[in-house]
Amino acid sequence: MKKIFLRLQEFFSCFYLRHIKKPQCIICGEVGTLKVGDHQYICESCAEIMNEIGNDRD
Ligand SMILES: [Zn+2]
Repeated sequence: MKKIFLRLQEFFSCFYLRHIKKPQCIICGEVGTLKVGDHQYICESCAEIMNEIGNDRD
């Protein structure tokens, strides 16, 4: 049961960010849903780019 609750919490915080709070991505200025620091968000496409850069280091 706890897992389902956590999933729901995740879902609603994501919904809240996307549709109500709409924080700006610190890189491109689009709506960012991924928190990277205090009051700092990045969007999913920038997160993907950053992941790719991170993977290149290996
Ligand atoms: Zn972005």
